[in-house]
Amino acid sequence: MQVVAGVDLGGTAINYTLVNKDERFLIEGLCEHPALTKQGPDVCLQQIEDGLKIAAKLAEIEVSDIVAVGLDTPGPASASGVLSARGSTNFAHEKWKGFDIREGMARKLGKPVTYLNDANAGALWGHFSIFGANSKATSISVVIGTGTGGGVIIEGNVLKGRVGFGAELGHMLIPYQSIAGIEGMVPQCNCGRVGDLESLASLTSIEKTVLPYLLKKSPNHELAKMTDAHQAAKLVRGMADKGDALCREVFRIQATALGLFFDCMVNTFDPDAFIVGGGVLEASPDFTKRFLEQIKAAMPTQREEQADIPIYPMPNGDTAGARGAAVEALTMARQTGLI
Ligand SMILES: [Zn+2]
Repeated sequence: MQVVAGVDLGGTAINYTLVNKDERFLIEGLCEHPALTKQGPDVCLQQIEDGLKIAAKLAEIEVSDIVAVGLDTPGPASASGVLSARGSTNFAHEKWKGFDIREGMARKLGKPVTYLNDANAGALWGHFSIFGANSKATSISVVIGTGTGGGVIIEGNVLKGRVGFGAELGHMLIPYQSIAGIEGMVPQCNCGRVGDLESLASLTSIEKTVLPYLLKKSPNHELAKMTDAHQAAKLVRGMADKGDALCREVFRIQATALGLFFDCMVNTFDPDAFIVGGGVLEASPDFTKRFLEQIKAAMPTQREEQADIPIYPMPNGDTAGARGAAVEALTMARQTGLI
């Protein structure tokens, strides 16, 4: 048996998956362990090795069956997996600064390791689930969570960029002034820009900008009575799902921002598909359907040939990172004759 593993190292948890050469995933749900990233590389890499043994047992294979491993982590990191020398939220331990996590893991496990940042891994999974591994299709994925991530897959390959910052889609400026009903709003992103995608389409933007803006117009709304802005923001999706008009307006604004952004992407990449994922879609099927329709409706009229570009919801959101990392390793294993 020849198998490839995917390891999604997040801020709080590590998620594992295993895929065989026929592209069948051997672990259905989440195979998750708490992450010990705070304790630095030595502890963390040991933990990854131990976790891989548990995952192998769960899938009833031997660790020696694993011929390659795909790793993904939050950034910032170089395209080849060297973590930022400035440190980062998720890799705060001193020893992580400038650490080559791909190389470190390859040495620890004695197996070849590929690296992607978490947003690109998610995008690759979304792409793979629609087009399979051997397609020359192009897709653009956007994942809306606390921030806004995403990825661009061009003719089957992940766009990483020169220093690993390719497809930082959340920080692309969009012509937000054309969104109706937000006159006077100043959507400020944590990155310093005003009016990028994340500043209008993320949980953070709901908390900092969109919800306060709308509540000012409707001071009697029940969310206006809450003192904890973060908690209030987290309630918006559920209330929108149940039909609350103000909360639905929040998502109309998000969808419109996405529509404007996708229009830029249509003109840059002429893609085969858009994929939307993240917490925003953890609601009812009706909510998802309406959200995707609103995005489409907000896209300026396309050329006739491009009017039918589909917008898909991202499947298996929880495991997207690990699965995308595994797909990257599977591609490498095939190209190098390992599998
Ligand atoms: Zn930004």
